[in-house]
Amino acid sequence: MSVDDFLRPINHSETLLINERSDTLEQSRRVFRFGFGQSPFPVPASVSTVLADNAAAKGYMPVQGWRPLREAAAAFHRAQDGVDWQPERLLVGPGSKLLIYAVMAAFTEADVLLVSPSWVSYEPQARLAGHDVHRLQTSADTEWRLTAEQLDRFCVARAQPQRPLILVLNYPGNPSGTTYTEAELEALASVLRQHGVLVISDEIYGMLHHTGEHRSLARYYPEGTLVTGGLSKWCGAGGWRLGVLHVPEALAPAMMPRLLGVASETWSCVTSPVQHAAEVAYAFGPEVQQYVEQERVVLSHIGNRAAEALNEAGVKTAAPQGGFYLFPDFDGWRGVLAERGIETADQLCERLLTEAGVALLPGTAFGMPADALAARLSYVNFDGSAALSADEAELGRL
Ligand code: PLP
Repeated sequence: MSVDDFLRPINHSETLLINERSDTLEQSRRVFRFGFGQSPFPVPASVSTVLADNAAAKGYMPVQGWRPLREAAAAFHRAQDGVDWQPERLLVGPGSKLLIYAVMAAFTEADVLLVSPSWVSYEPQARLAGHDVHRLQTSADTEWRLTAEQLDRFCVARAQPQRPLILVLNYPGNPSGTTYTEAELEALASVLRQHGVLVISDEIYGMLHHTGEHRSLARYYPEGTLVTGGLSKWCGAGGWRLGVLHVPEALAPAMMPRLLGVASETWSCVTSPVQHAAEVAYAFGPEVQQYVEQERVVLSHIGNRAAEALNEAGVKTAAPQGGFYLFPDFDGWRGVLAERGIETADQLCERLLTEAGVALLPGTAFGMPADALAARLSYVNFDGSAALSADEAELGRL
């Protein structure tokens, strides 16, 4: 018997792979690492100190998460987002990635609806959970935003409306860098309500909205929105693996026991020292608040300069509104690129990496069609510690 025939067609995540390729190439040439996106900022000192102080905390924590942490995270989101987060309906997990997967795994059957482009892991996760995946294509003209009309058309034409439909929405977006206005969220909420759609609203970059005006979908569609977040982006702690998931009141009686079931049969709990430190991060003292404000200044400054430079070069790029990515569309260069034998984003990224040492991620990794010449540029390849204390003039030099 060969095991090959029985293995799932799942591959190494492309975002992690580009980092490994950049490492290898860097041994022989300079590489501009715009491929991998992780926070360049150090964890605030008042938070990392707590991690060190609790290094000896070695016991298992409750599966749902340490109660003081859940209380702090719920209070934080109530204050930041004006939404009804409650510790009883909050689940702490090892990163929001696994929490998103836990939601998918909790369903025996569902249609998962994704926006193209959107984050690399949603589709593999949905497939691992055995669900059918559907995609709605967006374009540079709407700055890669899903419209209420598109969503409504899909819901009306659905083949199996009796199955739950789970929309995964992410904003500020990876890879788009853009977000939704209040009016757009209201319009989406009205369609979601009309069709009874369940939403996983991935708001991991919410705190990194560049002007601090992130609006949670849970404000407009509280009854059907599960929200995910965590410390990876705004607190610079991706490797700590601390995510939170909040379940709406209407869904909690049915879903919380199942989600706790998935959590208890897989990860058991998030590491104890990390949970202690996370409580302090979510308590959001003055040092942490100032840190987030400076992060926003830095990201907005660098993201906007990068987008301007690309637009001036004829590469259509939406100005970033949050997070740390741009999604330039090289369509305006199609003719010039074709003369060099480049017709797809994969070819473009491969040639940029091998010939110029510029690492970008092709749009195909985010569900874009092969011939769309769009790629993700992550603009966090700078010294985050220096940036936190830099003024406007110094930021220009980073
Ligand atoms: N969602 C999006 C859109 C992301 O970009 C990432 C990380 O890259 C995640 C979720 C996962 O974050 P976490 O570190 O909380 O698992």
